[in-house]
Amino acid sequence: MPHFGRRLAAVTAALAMSVTTGAISPASADPRHTDKDPTATGYGGAVSTVDPEASAAAIEVLRKGGNAVDAAVAAAATLGVTEPYSAGIGGGGYFVYYDAKNKKVSTIDGRETAPAGIKQDAFIDPATGEPYRFTPELVTSGVSVGVPGTPATWERALKRWGSFSLEDALEPAIEVADRGFVVDTTFRQQTEDNQKRFAAFTSTKDLYLPGGQLPAEGSIFKNPDLANTYRLLADKGMDAFYDGPLAKEIAKTVQNPPKSSDTALPVPVGSMTEEDLEHYKVVEQKPTHVNYRGYDVYGMAPSSSGGTTVGESLNILDVFDLPALKDEPAVLHHYLEASALAFADRAKYVGDPAFVKVPTKALTDPIFGKERACELDPLTAAPKPLKTAGDVSSYDGSCPVDPASAADEKDTENISTTNMTVSDKWGNVVEYTLTIEQTGGSGMVVPGRGFLLNNELTDFSTVYSATDPNRIEPGKRPRSSMSPTILLEDGKPFLALGSPGGSTIITTVLQTLVNRIDLGMSTPDAIAAPRASQRNTASVTAEPAFIDKYGAELTSRFGHTLAKSGDSFTSAAEIGAATAIEFLEDGRVLAAAEPVRRGGGSAMVVKLSK
Ligand code: GLU
Repeated sequence: MPHFGRRLAAVTAALAMSVTTGAISPASADPRHTDKDPTATGYGGAVSTVDPEASAAAIEVLRKGGNAVDAAVAAAATLGVTEPYSAGIGGGGYFVYYDAKNKKVSTIDGRETAPAGIKQDAFIDPATGEPYRFTPELVTSGVSVGVPGTPATWERALKRWGSFSLEDALEPAIEVADRGFVVDTTFRQQTEDNQKRFAAFTSTKDLYLPGGQLPAEGSIFKNPDLANTYRLLADKGMDAFYDGPLAKEIAKTVQNPPKSSDTALPVPVGSMTEEDLEHYKVVEQKPTHVNYRGYDVYGMAPSSSGGTTVGESLNILDVFDLPALKDEPAVLHHYLEASALAFADRAKYVGDPAFVKVPTKALTDPIFGKERACELDPLTAAPKPLKTAGDVSSYDGSCPVDPASAADEKDTENISTTNMTVSDKWGNVVEYTLTIEQTGGSGMVVPGRGFLLNNELTDFSTVYSATDPNRIEPGKRPRSSMSPTILLEDGKPFLALGSPGGSTIITTVLQTLVNRIDLGMSTPDAIAAPRASQRNTASVTAEPAFIDKYGAELTSRFGHTLAKSGDSFTSAAEIGAATAIEFLEDGRVLAAAEPVRRGGGSAMVVKLSK
């Protein structure tokens, strides 16, 4: 087992400068990585993330003999420094791993859980008896903080498949937190978008609004508190997160948020206790599996709805010979309609399987998909929202006369989150999506610890209904949309991909697959192409470029209604920011990141040639 502990930090700068990839900046005295290249092709392992510091951390670990799991943890910890509003140890995520030795895909569910003491009326304001408003009450609160799963995910992944100690894997991130990273437009903008929330907490204001100011673009941002927290975990293991003083401080922050005296934000308190942290457990489970045009597609099973919803959509689309259509708008029409059908089923059936019976097998069964495909008219968009879900209790692939009624779905998921894809020279692959839910999570930094707590419990249905699979319950995981996905061809990796973007994660992954497989685009083109998302809502949410290119035809020829994307919180008009690796001939890999959205991502390879 390679062990270079503290040494790794010392060699970080020198090594990174000498890495020969298209994405590493030329040698200079400054060890910070700012250059971004959205594609890189080469050998010996690869990485794609949203951030050059995180990608460089992964490459460095790979070059030192670490495997894809070691590199993924190093990159994730670095993202906790450089993308702290999207992910970090205060959040959760889903880790999908392809093991080249046994050719198997495994997963870790590191989703946040509701505290044991949460009540079904937790989202009702006791003062008024009315539901809290989503904004500002719920999103900036203790009540929406789930017990974080990310530290336990890193620990489990390293233990099961890694070759590095936690100490070694955290070393690059500690280095970045200590020496600081260069503030870019996105970081500054996200801080500005959150300014009011961040100013509401003394701890958050101190860290992210130093001197009451937004961090200036181009300045160096250091997070010594987070470096120290990582050092503590490196030294004592993740028990130091879930038990002891840190757990106590997390519970205190949730129960008694460190509110600034002058804030007008209401900040409802939560009930999380030290015991909730002590009892947190990741879940290892089988991935979902469908076959799409010869590719074995593995995804994340519930508590995420990613695997079942991407999988069901693919099963529906598999009924149609889309590549033969040679008609882009028609292919996109099928994509939008299939996704709406799968979202209707997700709303009715998917929640945390530890609490509700989720028909994962039926939802990913090609016969069920064939039956659902009966509802897809190749020529006309069905009126949305669809009022019917598929009947998972009885299906045989023939067209039903009377489908079951669908649950109503309110979409309150946000657009934060981050995603990474990593491979190594042995052929192992990690696809990992992690989040603190909203950009900026709950807005609350644990005082003196340098990280934000999530507001993931807003992913529960905000109005309680006893028949809703995603109703709030003590100890339960809220339903996620995260969709880390790995495709195999004849047992070997073909493509791994994932994205941030709340419930549009599902459609981004699906559309990228349709672009790549059915429309024959290259993986970078499939990622860059303009996006649209149909989640069983009255209109299709679409990027302006998508509307410009396809809007007229999708409207006049098929009857779709398109609405411009744009999130009320950040006013971002972009959908997703995917990362992927495609596995080419002869051990060559193509790492691809988002070229433009969210300021563009960073793809790197270990070696340009064999
Ligand atoms: N909370 C979302 C989910 O689990 C992810 C948040 C986001 O991407 O904005 O699906």
